[in-house]
Amino acid sequence: KMFLPQVVKSARVMKKAVAYLEPYLTPPPPEGGISSDGDKEKYEYETADPLYYSLLKDYVRIHRANPTEAENCFWELVRGKRLEGYKFRRQHIIGKYIADFVCLSHKLIIEIDGLIHQLPENIEKDIQRTEWLESKGFKVLRFRNEEIISNADEVTKKILYELNQFTKSTLPKKAPPLGGRGAGKILLATVKGDVHDIGKNIVGVVLACNNYEIIDLGVMVSCDKILEEAKKNNVDIIGLSGLITPSLDEMVHVAKEMERLNFKLPLMIGGATTSKVHTAVKIAQNYSGPVIHVNDASKSVPVASSLISNELRDAFMADINKDYERVREQNKNAQSQNKLISMAEARENKFPIDWSKTEIAKPNFTGNKVFDNYDLKEISEYIDWTPFFHSWELKGSYPKILSDATRGAEATKLFNDAQTMLNKIISEKWLQAKAVIGIYPANTVNHDDTEVYDEQGNVMATFYSLRQQSKKPAGQYNVALADFIAPKDAPSSVSLRAESRSEKKDYIGSFALTTGIGIDEHVTRFENDHDDYSAIMLKALADRLAEAFAELLHKKVRTEIWGYAKDENFRNEDLIKEEYAGIRPAPGYPAQPDHTEKNTIWKLLDVEKNTGIILTESLAMVPTAAVSGLYLSHPQSHYFGIGKINKEQVEDYAKRKGMTLEEAEKWLGPVLSY
Ligand code: SAH
Repeated sequence: KMFLPQVVKSARVMKKAVAYLEPYLTPPPPEGGISSDGDKEKYEYETADPLYYSLLKDYVRIHRANPTEAENCFWELVRGKRLEGYKFRRQHIIGKYIADFVCLSHKLIIEIDGLIHQLPENIEKDIQRTEWLESKGFKVLRFRNEEIISNADEVTKKILYELNQFTKSTLPKKAPPLGGRGAGKILLATVKGDVHDIGKNIVGVVLACNNYEIIDLGVMVSCDKILEEAKKNNVDIIGLSGLITPSLDEMVHVAKEMERLNFKLPLMIGGATTSKVHTAVKIAQNYSGPVIHVNDASKSVPVASSLISNELRDAFMADINKDYERVREQNKNAQSQNKLISMAEARENKFPIDWSKTEIAKPNFTGNKVFDNYDLKEISEYIDWTPFFHSWELKGSYPKILSDATRGAEATKLFNDAQTMLNKIISEKWLQAKAVIGIYPANTVNHDDTEVYDEQGNVMATFYSLRQQSKKPAGQYNVALADFIAPKDAPSSVSLRAESRSEKKDYIGSFALTTGIGIDEHVTRFENDHDDYSAIMLKALADRLAEAFAELLHKKVRTEIWGYAKDENFRNEDLIKEEYAGIRPAPGYPAQPDHTEKNTIWKLLDVEKNTGIILTESLAMVPTAAVSGLYLSHPQSHYFGIGKINKEQVEDYAKRKGMTLEEAEKWLGPVLSY
């Protein structure tokens, strides 16, 4: 079994010398010549068994590094499409043989023989070899070393003659049925407003390794552009990807447009925010062509091949549609059983904190604080490696995964590569870390809203929260983040062992940080070098550093800057397990699914100016290696999910935030119960 990192790593070789690893990565496709659109590179090969293949590869590598004089001459003649635009490869593996030079599109092999070929045993072997290659539709031309060196013109003529013969023999061509060739063209794009791409890139590489031609339009791609490129390139499948919830709507929009414009192409849906339920309920319902949710790069290959194959497609889609119909049915039932209580009842059952017994520590610091160019080495000590393996689809937890019976070796290799690159990132300063944090007096008003005050007590901003509305059993509460901040009308005996009025405040913090400044230059460098493995590795590491920076800063806030937990002393493992007091909930996450709360953080902390992080129209952060959120200090504060909410709450929330109902519904789409 091939593991993803290995596939992606090999792909770097593959892209440089296209077809190298294809036979290794896929079961051999049915044999048969080239595609009808002759210049496209879709060929099929007989496959050597993997052991044999890796030996061949080693041999090829050595051979390439030590070409004979004649081989050098010939390569000069044909390299880079010098020979009338025909593309030749050298030392190319076909089946269990290595062709000296081959023009794959025209199935012409050129062998350049040294004296060794005149030995009787070799003559015999050469004949067998030629016979086998010819049985696969190749034509084999042989030249002796001297011919190449002294009579290049004659050699060229012979080759061009054969190439023309081939062209004639394949004309006129009839368009082959879709999918008969085992490969196809797939367009991939991250939808408008979203910047997620590690997963998409991995899918792209895996599909490319399996002989699909990938047209990757990148991130933040508008619907118009996706559909225009799909038409222009005559693709077989459209694949959409997204990380944040607003992208779900954008995907629905693309599906509707495809329906309106009479597209028939299969639509593949993937990315962290997507789900089978959403795909079945919201996307498939809007498009009559095939729609399928694929969240696992390794599954993208069988799915794509079933979608493209004329023989398989109908049965495959019938199964999927049946499954999705069941999902829709279940979803409907779940919805009708989902009893939500009124907002009055939910507020009545808020999370109870006895504020009269709560000591609120006055922060050592209030206001905004900027961290510029924070030490990457220090940040790296806070990395949580488990999600790193997940980003490469190696499931398991660190460090156990390194010694796992099946995945251990692969995980260790990946981890070592990561360490090597991480050291370079740090020592060669590839990335810059920037952050801004703010700590402010704050109180909750009207149950669900948290006002943030300046030193004079004026309201500078308000954070709005959503409240759980499902019916809770006794002893459980309908929580909102605002419950963790002292209400403005808290009993004045409170806590607030305070001399002055302004000290009767509770506090809230917020932060935004990135470790992605400078990443583009290096990603581009790797991509230009067709080194997808390193490009993806760098992005995955930058993401890890961002989360690590969030962990580090949060600790600094608790123990020094705010200082409400001066004496905590946790190891990194404990930090990862969130054993400390307080939380750092992030907008767009289950406790506050509304991404627009980021706008408030951006204003309050002047995030763009202080860190360079910008928000897209869907409120994704750029650079992508970025984290933002609130700091809540109360020891009973904890993470939770809002669950579904009803129209009463959405209307109320919209009014409080000064949004229209439609706007609020758009941002809260995934949590609406109606
Ligand atoms: N060690 C992890 C930490 C990030 S995931 C890593 O390196 O990837 C955990 C973070 O996600 C939390 O710190 C918080 O910011 C956010 N989060 C998790 N659950 C949440 C919830 N229910 N509501 C809001 N934010 C949440």
